[in-house]
Order: sequence, then structure tokens, then C-alpha cells
Amino acid sequence: MDRVALNGLLRPKSIAVVGASATPGKIGFTVIDNLIKSGFEGAIYPINPTAPEILGLKAYPSVLNVEGSIDAAVITVPAKFCLSVVEECGKKGVKGVIIITSGFSEVGNRDLENQIVAVAKQYGVRILGPNIVGTLSNSDKMNASFAPFLPLPGKAALISQSGALLIALDAASYTRRVGFDKLVSIGNMSDVNFADVINLLDDDPKTTCISLYIEGFKDGREFIEASRKSSKPIIALKSGVSAHGAAAAASHTGSLAGAAKVYGAAFQQSGVIQASDLNNLFDRTLALSLQPPMKGDNLVIITNGGGVGVLATDAAERYGLPLKFVPAEVQTELKKHMPEFGSAKNPVDLTGMAGNEWYADSVRFALAHSWTDGMVVLYCETAMTNPMEIAQGIKKAVDEAGVKDKPVTVSFVGGERSEEAMRWLVENGIPAYNAPDIAVNAMAALREYSRMKAMATESLGMDIKVDREAALEVIRRARIDGRGALTEIEAKQVFNAYGLPTTATYLAKTEDEAVTLAKKIGFPVVMKIVSPEILHKSDAGGVKVNIKDEASVRDAFKTILTNAKAYKADANIHGIAIQEMAPWGTEVILGSVNDATFGPTMMFGLGGIFVEVLKDVTFRVAPVSHGQALRMLSEIRGAPILAGVRGEKPRDREAMADTICRYANMIVDLADEISESDANPVLVYEETKGIKVVDARIILKKK
Ligand code: ADP
Ligand code: MG
Repeated sequence: MDRVALNGLLRPKSIAVVGASATPGKIGFTVIDNLIKSGFEGAIYPINPTAPEILGLKAYPSVLNVEGSIDAAVITVPAKFCLSVVEECGKKGVKGVIIITSGFSEVGNRDLENQIVAVAKQYGVRILGPNIVGTLSNSDKMNASFAPFLPLPGKAALISQSGALLIALDAASYTRRVGFDKLVSIGNMSDVNFADVINLLDDDPKTTCISLYIEGFKDGREFIEASRKSSKPIIALKSGVSAHGAAAAASHTGSLAGAAKVYGAAFQQSGVIQASDLNNLFDRTLALSLQPPMKGDNLVIITNGGGVGVLATDAAERYGLPLKFVPAEVQTELKKHMPEFGSAKNPVDLTGMAGNEWYADSVRFALAHSWTDGMVVLYCETAMTNPMEIAQGIKKAVDEAGVKDKPVTVSFVGGERSEEAMRWLVENGIPAYNAPDIAVNAMAALREYSRMKAMATESLGMDIKVDREAALEVIRRARIDGRGALTEIEAKQVFNAYGLPTTATYLAKTEDEAVTLAKKIGFPVVMKIVSPEILHKSDAGGVKVNIKDEASVRDAFKTILTNAKAYKADANIHGIAIQEMAPWGTEVILGSVNDATFGPTMMFGLGGIFVEVLKDVTFRVAPVSHGQALRMLSEIRGAPILAGVRGEKPRDREAMADTICRYANMIVDLADEISESDANPVLVYEETKGIKVVDARIILKKK
């Protein structure tokens, strides 16, 4: 990414406004007016074909007439003039072009947008937009947009795909008291995308946290890479949860892979924290922009009221930070700052008698103690206490504790005096919320950030031998045959080439061959129809298990062929697969799709009703690290089944995770060939006993 150009876009020292106007109400007027009102200290060049002067500034007919250099050009002229303006900007050596104008790909006018990007590329100019509000920066006193004012100053930066929402959040920053240094409207992303802006903001000393409002994008892998590299917390609100392409999906996995699930997986893998809604985006942004990450699981809650204490305790469990009692020596010390009937365990209940002294003493001691990783301080407004004094007591104690790497969030429940005290806390760097569960949720975001960051940096490298050529050869043969799908036997050959353990499977063309193969494998065996046109073999009466002798092999051979013909008279039948009968194990499903945004993506779930009815599955963008694979196993609702239920031993989770990694490796390596695939079922055995893939399916990409 050309940083100079991006600095030209987000932190320009000189700005031309093309389409500048002296008529109030026009965007070309508003942008100039906003730049002046925001106190922009760099040069402003209004560009207008006829006006000699706009809002007291000398105007020019074209950027080419401006003598000084121009970092950024904001374009507000109608779409049809944009191409020639961008060309002029290129000639002038403008670094970044901010196209506010709409009427491009968002209304189907993709060609014009592409032409503009092509011209910009020729000149090395970067383009933000089109179809955007503009960009705003408090530290640069720059409102290069048609949003009415700069946001409440703060340390977060917001990148929004929706312009209207950006304007609304700009205004809401004041009522919500969540401060931003920068707001960036990203619009159609014809050139500069989320990844580019994340990279720039990562280098921006004024930004401590990056918030995203996302509707959807194409370059998923670039996004993952940029987010993974970012040294700052990123928090995303993704809208649009409807499944995409589900109807057309040929495999099970395809129909289960909704956009929301795959985005969610990508966020986890790149260390991006999710917000559940707009309020949550504000709440989490506030915490992440002001506080350090929470490095361990030990949360201390200090309160003056049992009710809010219990609500916070419930929330802690709900958000993945279940409370533990603090160590005995901490309890002994805390007991000194509360009446006899208080509780020093956790939540630490100072009781309604608590004044700012008790608060300060407990906060100071407990925060500094080595056991503590983070703290939530709660306060219920009482008649005896002054919220502002409590707030000041908390702030002073946090400072005196002298620890900079442990986060603190606060919740005051009360009236106007509590509101005022919380305002003061936020201004002094401590996130404060009007409900205990929100303060805990904000803390959970700080914990999630540290957990995910550790995961995101995990190595993805797999040191396994694969036989890519063998796999490609199988695929090549199927393609020569004019097929879009592999048979089970072929799919298993591909799986084997990537180190996935499958049941030994051979093709029999005649009854006699079937008998010979069954004897070679050893009874009992399983027999299945092999036809590229019958993908769901059981539905066609094409699967017979537990076949114990020669006579049964001969019977099964005939029955399966008869069933298959009855099911689909013109089906092209390769023969019957004879395979080793795997012992019983827990049935799970692995699968893959080629997601439109993120490319090869893995799915895991339990088999049977869990996947069919409950849709209890989870996703990761491939490749998948071992740690993420283990996380997949534990995050499905049916996870306890893998841990062993009703006296069963725990299942071999290590082998399962290993299989997920290998499978993911395969779909990345064969991304040009495989469109969708699944292993359904995979049988998982007791710990140390491994797994076995008993059915395999691969749908090829159309070429
Ligand atoms: P399909 O999914 O096309 O109907 P499968 O190959 O998955 O066919 O077979 C159906 C079921 O038969 C599987 O879900 C599994 O329970 C059982 N099965 C299939 N192959 C084997 C095998 N080799 N060993 C043990 N059980 C098997
Ligand atoms: Mg199956």
C-alpha cells in the first residue's frame, strides 16, 4: 500500500475541492464551509470553472491551475465529469482523490467506476469512494466531508461502509460520549478498501482502536491479513445476516454457510472483536479505545449493592468471564474496608455504607494485586454518598495502584448526578456505563481481544507431506470424463493424498470381483453404489453395511444395482465400492465451501440430527491453525458429546483437530479445483484411537 497516497487521503496538508460552489445547500459549498469551520490549517483550493472566489478563498478553474502541490482532491461534481477530473488530478500529481459523488456501481454503473480506477492507477493516485460522505479528523482539524461537524474528540477511528450511518454516529458520539479522532466513509471501495485504511490507521499515532461498520466486501483475505497485522484492537459490526448463495449450494456445507457465520469465523481468526449491535459497537469501542487488554481470566468486581453485583456476576458468566473467589490474603485485606456484613469474596460487596474512601482503598489494593487481571467497579447511587466523589475516589485509586496493563470499567446506576460522574470518568480515561452488564460486556471485549490476538498470531504452517500431483491426476481424469463431481472412491483418493485417514475402498465391476475384494479387505465389509449421478447414495438404496460373507456380498451386489436403476434409470454406474467396515464411532461432518469473500472455508459439526435439524456447525477460513481447530470443536453446542457422555470416554479431539488442519490445507492447496466438499460422516474414536473418514464428496469448480 502506498502510504504517501493514503496520508494524502486521510491526513492531507492541502485540499482541493472540485465542484466547489458559492451556493449554500450544494455539497460543493458544504465541504468548503466545513473545512473552514473545522479550522483546517492547510491550503484549501476551491475548483470552479467560473467563480473567481468562494467563501473568501481564491478559486481556480482546474486543479491544473493551482500553483502549490495538492495532497487530496475532494470531488463533488456529477458522476459523468469524474473521469476527466481524476485524469487532471493525476496530471497535477494529487496523491489521493476522495470521490463523494454517487451514481456509480451502487446503481449498476460499474463501467464508469472501473474506468476511473484504471486512470487513477496509471497516475498512481489512490481513490477513496465513490459514494461517500468524506473523511474527518479531529487531530488534523479537518472536516473534508458533508457531515455537519467533527465528532466528539477521542482516540477511536471509525470506518463506515454506510455514509448515512457515519453522519448519524458522528452526531451520536456526543450523546453517547464516545470520542473519535477519525471518521472515514469508505463507500463503494472502488480502490481503497477496509484493509488499506486499517493499515494506515495502524500507523496513526492518534488512533488507539479501530471500529468498523461492515455491510460486505470482496477481498476477505486482504482484510484478514491487515487485521491480523494490526497492533490496535479492531471491532466490527457486520450487518446483513441472510445466507448468501444458499439456495444454489450443491453440498450440505454450502447450504449451512451463511455470510454472517463465515464473517464471524474470519473475525475470530484475524483477532477482530465483534459488536452485536450499534449500542454494543459504541460501548466496546469506548473500552477498547481507553483501556489496555485484559491478559488473564481473573476479574474482580467491586460493588456497593448486592443487586448490581449479582447482575454483573451473571453477565460475567454470559460473556465468558466467570467469576472466581479472590485469594484468601486478598479477602483479609479487603475485609478492612467494609462493615462486618460485607463480602470480600468476589463480587466484593462494600455494602451501601461504602463511601469514596472504602472504594478507593479496595480498588487500589485489589487492582495492584498480582492475582487480578481486570476490574469492574459498580456503584448504586445512595442518599448518603456523592457520585462525583465516588468517581474521583475510583480514578485516584486506579492511578495510585500504579498498574498500566490492567483494564478497569465502571458502571454507575442512578440519576443525573451519576450521569455527570460517569461523564467525568470517561473524560478521565475510564469507560463508564449506565448498567452493570454493559460494563462487564466491555470488559469481556478487552479479554476477547487479548485471547484472540494470541490465536491470530499462531502459526498456520503445517509440516505434512502431501501428494498434490496424485490429487490433481484424479481430478483431471474426472474432468476428461466431463464430470463436475468426483465419486466417493475418487474423493477418498484426493483426501488420502492430503493425509486424511479414510476407510480402504476399492471398485468392483463384477460380482466375482466384489467377492475377491471383500475377502482381501476382510469381513465385515460395506458396499456402496459408485455413480457420478448418485451423490446421496443411501437415498438410492445404494449403501449396505455389515456384510459378513460371500453370499451376502453377491446378494448386496444385485440389490444395490437394482435399487440404483430404480432410483435413476439412466445413471452412469461405475460399479460397486467395496470397503472396510469401520467400527462404531461418534459421527461428525467436515465440509468446505468456496466463500465469495473469503475463499476456501471449513465447516465442522456433529453428524446426524445435529447438522440436519439443529444446524449446529461452525466455520473457519482455511488454512486453520491447530488452536483454532480445537476451538471449533469446543464452540458447537454439541461439544459435550465429544467430551464423552453417559460413561463414554472422551473422543480423540487431537486427531480431530489434526484432521481439520489437514482438510483445510487441502482446500487451500486445491482452491482452483474444489468448489465444495464434505466428509460425512467422519467417525471419531476414543482418545488416542484416531478418526476415520467413511464417506467423501468433492464438487469441482466449473472451468
Ligand atoms: P451417503 O451419505 O451417500 O448416503 P454414506 O457413505 O455416508 O452414504 O453411508 C451412509 C451411512 O452408512 C454412513 O452415514 C455411515 O453411518 C454408514 N457407513 C458408510 N460407510 C461406512 C463404513 N465404511 N464403515 C462403517 N459405516 C459406514
Ligand atoms: Mg454420507
